[in-house]
Amino acid sequence: MTMLTFLGTGGGRFVTLMQERSTGGIYLEDKVKVHIDPGPGALHALKRNRIDPTQTDCIAVSHCHPDHYANAEVLIEGMSFGKKGRAGALFAPRSVITGSEKVGPAISRYHQGKLREIVVAKPFDRFRLGDLEMMATPAVHSDPDCIGMRFVTTNGDVSYVADTEMREEVIEAHKGARVLVLATTRPLRSRIPFHLSTEDAARFASVIRPELCVLTHLGRRFLRESPKKQAEWVKARTGVETVAARDDMKVTMGPRVEVLYMTKPGSYVIKGAHKHRQEAVCPDREKGPPMAEPPPPQVGGPA
Ligand SMILES: [Zn+2]
Ligand SMILES: [Zn+2]
Repeated sequence: MTMLTFLGTGGGRFVTLMQERSTGGIYLEDKVKVHIDPGPGALHALKRNRIDPTQTDCIAVSHCHPDHYANAEVLIEGMSFGKKGRAGALFAPRSVITGSEKVGPAISRYHQGKLREIVVAKPFDRFRLGDLEMMATPAVHSDPDCIGMRFVTTNGDVSYVADTEMREEVIEAHKGARVLVLATTRPLRSRIPFHLSTEDAARFASVIRPELCVLTHLGRRFLRESPKKQAEWVKARTGVETVAARDDMKVTMGPRVEVLYMTKPGSYVIKGAHKHRQEAVCPDREKGPPMAEPPPPQVGGPA
């Protein structure tokens, strides 16, 4: 089974600042574990979702805005925690890693020195990490180096369209995705530059026709105008199953794609099957205790 956990579903300056929704990004668990866009609150959200950050294999950051990278440095330390030498991979564009004319870098040299592998990703670059292939996809955003991502998992492709404007070449790069995650900051009738609106989400869904379309990275106005209604509009318009993500929601991909909502830590209800609850545990995680005992603290380095 492949699993996505929505550690945060808020986006934009105001929602991030006020934490109206969490902004911890998305955690992808396949045979390889990737934390995507760990913004403010990612650490707390991992704890709430009982995900051990020392087991992460890769941090993937779409661009150099703090709602996408703010917790990345601490999580990079997490990947090497208790291990000898460098560990973990970072997949991010130039602005995040070396900085550009406009922004960045977002990751200090100290933290870059802890990584086993750093991939400076441009659109259409591919990167293989164990059994998982990742591809950077194009984006049109105020950080011009911004990328989206496509993950070739053991259960089909997951596409993550990060902050971008709607362009046909962006849509093209995600054709064939089984699950399509769209950073849809703006609701109907309120399109702004460099971000997707509900109308744009419908265009993506109608061309790509995934099994499930997830709207996330929701801005203040989107939250005020009923995320559920926005998702229903996309579904009515396209016929594609669409949900507006909730914090701590999971999407599982096996023979079927299912959406699970957390009712309390460790307990979930499957969307559309309201009486059925189950522990949502990724098969790989069953091998050991959910949280490893921390090794003794190392001397040196920042606290
Ligand atoms: Zn953003
Ligand atoms: Zn942005």
